[in-house]
Amino acid sequence: MFSSKNDFPQLEHLKKSGTVYLDSAATSLKHSSIIQSQSGFDTTSVANVHRGSYKLSGEATSKYEESRLKAAEYLNCKPEQIVFTKGTTDAVNMVANSVTAQLTSEDSIMITEMEHHANLIPWQEAAKKSGAKLLFCSVDKTGDLNLEEIEKKLKDNNVKFMSLCHISNTLGTVNPIQEIQKLCKKNNTELFIDGAQAVSVLRPDLTKLNADYYAFSAHKLFGPFGVGILYVKDIDNLHINQFGGGIIDVVNFQSTKFLKGPQKMEPGTPNISGIISLSPLFDFLITLDFEKVQEHEKDLTASATKKLSKLGGFETVGSSESKINILSFNFESVHPNDLCELLDEQGLALRSGHHCTQPLLKKMGITGCARASFSIYNTPEDVDKLVQATSKALEMLR
Ligand code: PMP
Repeated sequence: MFSSKNDFPQLEHLKKSGTVYLDSAATSLKHSSIIQSQSGFDTTSVANVHRGSYKLSGEATSKYEESRLKAAEYLNCKPEQIVFTKGTTDAVNMVANSVTAQLTSEDSIMITEMEHHANLIPWQEAAKKSGAKLLFCSVDKTGDLNLEEIEKKLKDNNVKFMSLCHISNTLGTVNPIQEIQKLCKKNNTELFIDGAQAVSVLRPDLTKLNADYYAFSAHKLFGPFGVGILYVKDIDNLHINQFGGGIIDVVNFQSTKFLKGPQKMEPGTPNISGIISLSPLFDFLITLDFEKVQEHEKDLTASATKKLSKLGGFETVGSSESKINILSFNFESVHPNDLCELLDEQGLALRSGHHCTQPLLKKMGITGCARASFSIYNTPEDVDKLVQATSKALEMLR
């Protein structure tokens, strides 16, 4: 779809080294616009933001705030609802820390069995500190959630907060978040959505979705490392839990008055060149037709599934009909690490292991699996190479 080296310069290097990149769920290749923007800023325009009264600093601040405006426009929300973070993990911790102070032992937090450790451990900690119960929505054999179970658990327990992934990084399941949002709203439960895996395959409309929080990392969206976005419906509900410069109105020796907007959550010097590069990134993203993106990636996933299953002993980990671009799998009596090592020797870059979802895999009775994840720059030839290399690896391993 976007195989042009002008869009993704690393494709040229991968081609030269005979490598096929099938690990975009871990991190995506970077779009040329953000590479140029970051290096342009670092080469000619460096200055800190929100501080200096000189021209360079003013220009850096304008560009930094322009990224907030572009993010809000892209996500259909207000700029004051956009907090810049270090990534999804940072955002979950920020919200979990903020929520902890409002919970008591009478309350419950609910997540699902398919959460990435980044959307599990902060809630374990929140439950431990507040005394609240941590509840789990179960995942069925296909890798789907059950809306009736969610509704019942919300009704039967005092669930103050629910958090779940939009798309599972292991199972590939696209969760029915609009329906879950309605159930939460009916129950007066605040909702956090981990959009880490979703934003490269769809454009969220956050006003329409009406969740309380939505977070993602730019590095999974063709963007820079160490930068993320946290949408907050009502910024006044998010309590400051990291302190320092850049977030204050007035400081006295004994007390501080903080800023009110999203900047109150952005202490210290951020990744300025990374955040500034979000502006050209959103310009690129707005040109994508996500229906076509989904069609393309679903085709690759379906074709890989069909062709790999012909090799015998093939088992998918997660077989939800909602899947778009993530294919986790195992072959009977073959260790996924051995398989991926042999695939790597043949130039196929895909990940094996627990994919930061240990409890989920344990429930499914496995300790690991291989995962191929497809993006806009992958092609049907990549699928064929995966199948050929897997066939060769299986001959050696069986
Ligand atoms: N949630 C999900 C579903 C993920 O896939 C990931 C990254 N693998 C994260 C959270 C954490 O993202 P990051 O490491 O960018 O903070």
